[in-house]
This record gives sequence, C-alpha cells and structure tokens, in this order.
Amino acid sequence: KPKNSIAVLGATGSIGAATLEVVRELGEPWHLWGASAHSRILELAGTLQDFQPHYMVATCAEAARGCDRSRLPPGCELLVGPDALVRLAQDPSVDTVVAAIVGSAGLMSTLAAAQAGKRLALANKETLVVAGGLVTDALRQSGGEMVPVDSEHSAIFQALQAGSKREVERIVLTASGGPFRTWTSAQMADASVEDALAHPTWQMGRKISIDSATMMNKALEVIEARWLFDLPADKISVVVHPQSIIHSFVEFTDGSVLAQLSPPDMRLPIQYALTYPDRIACPCPKMDWRQPWTLDLEPADEERFPALELGWEVAKRGGTCGVVVNAANEAAVELFLSGELRFPEIVAGCRRILDQHHYTPSPGLDELMRLDRWAREETLKWAAQC
Ligand code: NDP
Ligand code: MG
Repeated sequence: KPKNSIAVLGATGSIGAATLEVVRELGEPWHLWGASAHSRILELAGTLQDFQPHYMVATCAEAARGCDRSRLPPGCELLVGPDALVRLAQDPSVDTVVAAIVGSAGLMSTLAAAQAGKRLALANKETLVVAGGLVTDALRQSGGEMVPVDSEHSAIFQALQAGSKREVERIVLTASGGPFRTWTSAQMADASVEDALAHPTWQMGRKISIDSATMMNKALEVIEARWLFDLPADKISVVVHPQSIIHSFVEFTDGSVLAQLSPPDMRLPIQYALTYPDRIACPCPKMDWRQPWTLDLEPADEERFPALELGWEVAKRGGTCGVVVNAANEAAVELFLSGELRFPEIVAGCRRILDQHHYTPSPGLDELMRLDRWAREETLKWAAQC
C-alpha cells in the first residue's frame, strides 16, 4: 500500500522544515495530513498556508493560547496538548509519521505511531535510546515499520538492501568529528557555546549540534543502530570522516563493503524514508564528478571524546542505561547552552549519573519515565556543585 499521507511531528524544527519542503516537492499523491509545533505555532501556521492540512497540533498550551486562529490555513483545526500529538500519530488517515521532535519529549508520540502500525520515519533518535525495546516490540505487534531518517542509518538501511541481515559482519557509522575534531582536550575545556554550535558540515537544531561537538550524537547513533538493525554493540564501529559525504558503511561476511554517498543534505534521507522502496528525483545537490576531491577517514579518538565509550556501554547493557544517559545529556546540554556548565562537564555529568543509577534490565514505560525525571534532577544537583 502506498504510504502517501504524512504527519510531521516537530514540523518547526530543522528536520521538520526540511520534511515539509520534501513533501511539497514530491507533490501528489503525497500530502500533509497534519503537523505539530511546540512553541512556534504561529510560524507553523504561516508555513502550512501552502498545504491543506486537516489539523495542527500545538504541544505547548501557552503558545496555543497566543495563536490567532484566523491565521490557520483554511479548513485546518488546531488541537492542543500532548494527547493531541498522540492522536495525530495514530490517526487512521495517516500512513507515515515523521518523528522529528527533539529529545525524549518525542517518546510518547513516536511510541504511539509504532503501536498504531504506521511507517515510522524516525529522526527522533532519543526515543530509541530511551525505549528501543518498547518501540521495536510495538512495531512487531502492530505490523508497522521503521525507516531511518538519520543520514548514517539511512545509508546503512540503503546498503542493506543488497544483502540479508545474517550476511552482515559489521556496520561502520561515519562521524564528521564536529567542530572540535582537531581541538585538544585543553582547548575544549574552554569552548564557548558559539564554538560548539559551529558545525562544519551540517545545519541542525541546537541540541544535536552540541551533541555533535561532544560526539554524544555518535554515541546515541550507536544505540539507535543497535535497535534499528538488531545488531550487538561489538558489530557497530565508528570512523571519522570530516567531509560528511560517505554517510556510513556496511561490511558483509565476504569482506565486501558497501557505502552510500551524497553531499550533506537531510532532504535526501528524509525523502527516501517517505518513498522507500522507490527512489524518486530529488532537488538536493548531487555529487560533482568533474571536480577533484578527497575523502578522508580517521579513527575516532575515544580519549578526547569520552561520550563514545558511553555509547557502546549503553548499547551493550541496555535496560535502564539509555534513559539515564539520554536524560542526563539533555539536561546537561541545556545547562551548557545557558552558560551554567563547561563543555567537558556535559559528558562527565552523563558518566556520573549513569554510574550512580540503579540498573534494571527490562524497565516498563512507567519506570523509564520515572528514571528520565530522576536523571534530570540528579544532573541539576550535580551541576549546582560544579
Ligand atoms: P530542532 O531543535 O530544530 O527542532 C525540534 C522540534 O521539536 C521543533 O519542531 C520543536 O517545536 C519541537 N519540540 C521541542 N520541544 C518539544 C516538546 N517538549 N514537545 C513537543 N515538541 C517539541 O531539532 P532538529 O530538527 O535538529 O532535530 C530533531 C530530531 O532529529 C532530534 O532527535 C535530532 O537528534 C534528530 N536529527 C536531526 C538532524 C538534523 O540535521 N537536524 C539529523 C539527524 C537526526 P518548536 O520549534 O515549535 O518549539
Ligand atoms: Mg546522524
């Protein structure tokens, strides 16, 4: 069945806005059924004038109160609150849910889409880090499917079309290395917010930009890959590739390695998640084969970027580790952005809170939510002493 009716959760963000562009470019039969914003609901109302959505969701009630309803697109209803987000994710008229909310705020709606048997076009990696087991179980039970939007995982997903899962020896995630790839630890200790936000190859939201600078983003992606591809942590490697052209590798049992390449532009993996298994012309920049160019690969430096070790540890141990590291990281990134933590303390805080927590191997949703709150509170307490 074609998956043409689309809901975009987090439509005002970097991925959300790129998704709306992709839907507009694809044209009929693809169409936007509904979209959500958190604080920027008026901005979304403006963008959606070009579409004919059935409804918009504002997850922040206060932002919704300030929204002049006469500015909504014609025929579009405004629903308010997190329950409305779940309703949009499960709407029977929606085929594909693009999960583009940042952080564990996207958990309930992403899980709801999985339970409702949707195609889940997943950007919101934090949901898999927190509750990968619950999401994959829900998809199995509902008959839904998950197609990655994250560029590395999309590359692996695409390369995997050439062989079966039992023929995979390992997957290798590429990492740009972020703005501090060549910085010493001493230099990073004094990094400013501006330095950390200056990503060399990608334009992204603030949280993922800081995650790229600490390389926590790659750690989260190792965990994301563990759930997406059902692979043990020791079959997932990371290599630094500063040009962000090779989006990842799959090595098969015969030693053959396949990769997916394209200039860095998120519209391509987003479009593939919508049109899969088909490929359709895309307005993204293409490789220019007339130019000489160089592709570098370097080993990742786990000493300067201790977040990487956390990624493999969490991918191995599973259970409650993901929710704790994710919540500590979300809280620490906010503190760094507001000038209350120094750059190296983001990952140091995550390590500390992970080691402090009481581990259990198969937490339910309530336990995950409780630990999410606990890890945030512990991070705030720890930061106050720093
Ligand atoms: P942005 O910060 O640009 O956008 C975040 C979106 O989430 C906005 O629509 C925002 O709404 C919404 N949002 C924020 N808080 C809440 C909340 N409490 N409840 C509901 N919605 C909320 O993030 P990105 O687009 O950069 O990233 C989104 C996800 O995609 C992340 O998980 C990220 O890791 C992943 N990703 C991003 C990539 C990129 O290139 N940007 C690449 C690969 C993955 P509003 O703005 O209206 O407040
Ligand atoms: Mg990525």
